[in-house]
Amino acid sequence: MKNVDYIIVGDGYAALFLAHQLKINDKSFVLFSEGRKSASQVSAGIINPVVLKKFTTFWKAQEQIDFLKETLHQIESYTGENYLIENPIHRIFHDENEQKLWLKKSENNELTHFLDKNFDHLEVVKNDFNTGKVNQSARLNVNGFFTGLFNFFENESQLIKEKFDYSKINTSQNTYEDFNFKHIIFCEGIVVKNNPYFSDLPIDPNKGHHIKVKLSVPISPNITIKKKHFLFPVNNGLFFYGGTYDREQLHHHIDDSAVEQLIKGLSEFYPYDFEIKDTNFGFRPTVKDRRPILGRHSEHKNLYVFNGLGARGILNGCYFSKSLYDFIEENIPLHKEVSLDRFTTVK
Ligand SMILES: Cc1cc2nc3c(=O)[nH]c(=O)nc-3n(C[C@H](O)[C@H](O)[C@H](O)COP(=O)(O)OP(=O)(O)OC[C@H]3O[C@@H](n4cnc5c(N)ncnc54)[C@H](O)[C@@H]3O)c2cc1C
Repeated sequence: MKNVDYIIVGDGYAALFLAHQLKINDKSFVLFSEGRKSASQVSAGIINPVVLKKFTTFWKAQEQIDFLKETLHQIESYTGENYLIENPIHRIFHDENEQKLWLKKSENNELTHFLDKNFDHLEVVKNDFNTGKVNQSARLNVNGFFTGLFNFFENESQLIKEKFDYSKINTSQNTYEDFNFKHIIFCEGIVVKNNPYFSDLPIDPNKGHHIKVKLSVPISPNITIKKKHFLFPVNNGLFFYGGTYDREQLHHHIDDSAVEQLIKGLSEFYPYDFEIKDTNFGFRPTVKDRRPILGRHSEHKNLYVFNGLGARGILNGCYFSKSLYDFIEENIPLHKEVSLDRFTTVK
């Protein structure tokens, strides 16, 4: 038997940020990855403290951004790579009213550090009313982050490339196959619906598509443009545009309507030809109250869940991995807004 403090089930943002917390606190663990392309790996990697429809911010945005930057520094110290791309978002204004609203909101205490008061005009794309820059916004190099961390944990023999089988947990002996564990944390995204311990969790899948395109006239490589969706450079001279939102079409193949929506959205502000080279989709694990779900199973006290990261997987995953760690190891209560206990119907 091999003794481990933790088994992590899953391999998206929730799982990897949690693995990082365990690593820096010298806890032993293994992480189960069934090797599917997670929603996290399909994500755009946008790190954004502002809701760009209404120009508002959200709970603990500044704290979350600061904590993410500190965490990515720590991760760089052992993988040797910086995954933070500090290229800001430029939001294309639809009209003068939006400009006025942005300026008004930029006076607000909570938003003043995020909404730049000087507007920029961009080359190549249509932006008749200019753009507003979101200060402190950035991007994660999504592919680099997952490749770097998977390689690191594989070299440390902490990555188990298998589907975790719930029927093999022995909750009275605290064993799973050859492992003797103290805690198991399920970070499974929408697949949690199949988990017999947490299947009641009120997680609603929200399907998102993105396209990767070759632009006939290139745009600046140092910004992220936002109009309807996000446009930014990735690799091989391609640009990412996405992602869409859909709560209805939940089948596991590409929706033509989502692709059409993306083509239309991009054509609205990019007036030249472009060619779609790749299309992908994933399912965001969302919660009606838009807050993650963290907590301990009511009967099996060493089983935990970390889910509901919604549209902000990077910020939520990073920040709340520490809250969950502190809850388990330091007995620090979870914020009631994110605690599993807010759903009384869940066992
Ligand atoms: C198109 C799109 C764009 C997005 N853009 C952004 C963005 O720009 N910024 C942002 O912050 N967020 C973004 N998101 C949201 C973000 O991707 C999600 O919040 C995040 O991926 C959720 O992470 P997770 O770890 O909870 O779940 P997931 O990423 O779904 O990971 C769960 C993983 O666990 C694995 N798993 C489950 N059960 C088992 C088992 N029994 N054994 C082994 N493995 C198992 C699954 O296969 C899966 O790979 C986007 C999402 C989409 C779809």
